[in-house]
Amino acid sequence: MELIKTIAKMQRFSKDAARQGKIVGVVPTMGYLHDGHVSLIKQARKLADVVIVTIFVNPTQFGPNEDLDKYPRDFERDWMLCEQNGADAIFAPAPDEMYCPDSSTWVTEEKLSRGLCGKSRPVHFRGVTTVVAKLFNATLPDVAVFGQKDAQQAMIIKRMTRDLNFPVEIVVAPIVRETDGLAMSSRNKYLSTEERTRALTISASLRDAERTLKAEGGKALDGIAKKIIERITDADGKVDYVEILDAENLEQVSASTNTVLIAVAAFFGATRLIDNILIIWTE
Ligand code: AMP
Repeated sequence: MELIKTIAKMQRFSKDAARQGKIVGVVPTMGYLHDGHVSLIKQARKLADVVIVTIFVNPTQFGPNEDLDKYPRDFERDWMLCEQNGADAIFAPAPDEMYCPDSSTWVTEEKLSRGLCGKSRPVHFRGVTTVVAKLFNATLPDVAVFGQKDAQQAMIIKRMTRDLNFPVEIVVAPIVRETDGLAMSSRNKYLSTEERTRALTISASLRDAERTLKAEGGKALDGIAKKIIERITDADGKVDYVEILDAENLEQVSASTNTVLIAVAAFFGATRLIDNILIIWTE
């Protein structure tokens, strides 16, 4: 496995692979890898001949009061997990390799980014779309794998890829959970044991919502969000949002909805967690 730190070397690596007729796959991450990331690497391994994992804690997607400085890092462990799971290269640029000091160009998606996490994290998706565009230009992939864990992010990246004609296939892999249901996240490390137990109300209430919606159909929609909020609040969580939307366009559920997305963001202590569930809609 190769460690690549510069954009020029990364582009040479991918161009060489393409010249040999190889399909290049990329898995963009911020490191501190867990089994959720590993599932993306394995998915990329199935779809591509050459797999690049990018590890870059992207400063532009963090707001001023967010956790950029204390975002967890463990490069040695990340290296081991990438190697064990069949990655061919890690692209780990320093911040000043990715961003010139007088950088003044942004990529913004202006519709899907507005709601959900975009409301409480106003600069977040501009940072994500900009860095993913830059990572695509550095790694020159044929296919890129993202996680359903960040449902809104995956949709925005698909939209950006389509709108800007990146020749990249976007694949979205399912959420990987701990055995007790908690969605895996690098940020779970911040939770105390007690907070972690209370945070299980997020995944548990999503599972209940799925059961109710399947049993009762559309008439259950209004009650469902209320119940999720109640359950998280009762566990001393602070709900940022609970939204039930059409999973294809993030608009209100309607007669033409095929899949419903129930998305939650909530704080346990100082840690903001997100989770979601997709439900096939048969109304
Ligand atoms: P991050 O390092 O948190 O920026 O995540 C990098 C990629 O891994 C994103 O596409 C995430 O959606 C994905 N990811 C993070 N957690 C999970 C999970 N529990 N299951 C599946 N994918 C995940």
